[in-house]
Amino acid sequence: MESKPRVVIVGAGFGGLAAARALKRAPVSVVMVDQFNYHTFQPLLYQVATAGLEPEEIAHAVRGIFHRQKNFDFRLGKVVGADLGRRALRLHDGCEVAWDYLILSAGASSNDFGVPGVKEHAHFLKSLTEAMALRSHVIEQFEAAAGDPALIGRGALNFVLVGGGPTGVEMAGALVELIDRVLVRDYPHLDVSRSRVTLIEMTDRLLAPFHEKSRRHALAVLERRGVDVRLNEAVVEALPGGVRLKSGGTIPTRTLIWAAGVRANPLAGFLGLEQVRGGRVKVNPDLSAPGHPEVFVIGDMAGSTDPEGQLHPQLAQVAIQGGRHAVKQILRQIEGQPTREFVYHDPGVMATIGRNAGIAELPVLNLRFTGILGWLMWLFLHLMYLVGFRNRLNVFINWAYNYFTWDRSARLIIEPDLAGPAGERPAG
Ligand SMILES: Cc1cc2nc3c(=O)[nH]c(=O)nc-3n(C[C@H](O)[C@H](O)[C@H](O)COP(=O)(O)OP(=O)(O)OC[C@H]3O[C@@H](n4cnc5c(N)ncnc54)[C@H](O)[C@@H]3O)c2cc1C
Repeated sequence: MESKPRVVIVGAGFGGLAAARALKRAPVSVVMVDQFNYHTFQPLLYQVATAGLEPEEIAHAVRGIFHRQKNFDFRLGKVVGADLGRRALRLHDGCEVAWDYLILSAGASSNDFGVPGVKEHAHFLKSLTEAMALRSHVIEQFEAAAGDPALIGRGALNFVLVGGGPTGVEMAGALVELIDRVLVRDYPHLDVSRSRVTLIEMTDRLLAPFHEKSRRHALAVLERRGVDVRLNEAVVEALPGGVRLKSGGTIPTRTLIWAAGVRANPLAGFLGLEQVRGGRVKVNPDLSAPGHPEVFVIGDMAGSTDPEGQLHPQLAQVAIQGGRHAVKQILRQIEGQPTREFVYHDPGVMATIGRNAGIAELPVLNLRFTGILGWLMWLFLHLMYLVGFRNRLNVFINWAYNYFTWDRSARLIIEPDLAGPAGERPAG
């Protein structure tokens, strides 16, 4: 019996899921490999970090997503290398996964841009574990300050965010809301008004890819809501108790949130494929890797470009369209047809700054929405793109509840740091 070609997909992110779904009726077997057994909806990570949503509301078990797809199988494992000649992936446990066609969609990781101390002292927002750790850490600062108000003077309630892109803007907006509307009620004996959220951006603008009017709107809303926005500023060193600024000053803080950018997953380097800016893998116009027509690289990992030679933005839609495109090219190869080049259709960009304040830009219709309309569009589209009906329903109920009560989901500190001054945990 002739066996079906095996398509191996690395990564259960936006690109990987789109590719696997597109292969549903194809005459191939599909194996998806991911280091986690779930898909993470990264655009809502900041809501987990600010106690707006519970972690499981923005994640979905991969096997559950593909219940009904007969040609699909999942392998939990971290890819640590690959032999492109033998067409085999190497996993963390020493096992190998062989492919006929490979789709690499392992995403990106946070980029500290080599700023000293960032790796050691900053919080990142790339995974569910990081988002949950950040949520615990923020609440812990309030608990610590409630126990010893002198800590406020040493920066315990100063929260510094670096990076004025959508993640930094959304996180800053959600953080002031959490503090001013929720934590202020949790800590009635604490002078919560002394807390400060600072957003640092090295260029002269927030939300660089957006229209100038949207950018001005975002800046005005954040400042009105109490965020200290510092443009043309940068963190040059992160220390255990603060950050040093390019302008010369320092901000005492125990919480540095790094949203300054990403670099392609380190896997891009391990594979021995040529890399371009940001560590992204150089690809042919059809998204295949040079010299390896059966290997496709998509999403945040891929160095694909538009007709002007500009790298595509690292956005969910680029990954989704790339995944579908790679599948079409694999099927064309199986049928003996030549492959076609990838053309990205930009559906627009969106960001939210907080309650009743969002931005939606739709270039196809030449439309731009700010304020409550932009916010409602943001809510609707994020609900639609969440994986799983149950998650959508839970998130909808949670958002509605939060909106009308100004309350938030459980503000749990999962593992309180109760180390004593000598660094020892109390017994028991
Ligand atoms: C906080 C945040 C907010 C964002 N907001 C938006 C937004 O509002 N709109 C938007 O369009 N985009 C947004 N993005 C960007 C968007 O999430 C990415 O562009 C998109 O996820 C890229 O898809 P991908 O498939 O390339 O990778 P990912 O979705 O990152 O998926 C990569 C997968 O690969 C797995 N993986 C990684 N390394 C390995 C390995 N070695 N072995 C096995 N598995 C591995 C990971 O576990 C993950 O499941 C945001 C990103 C972040 C971090």
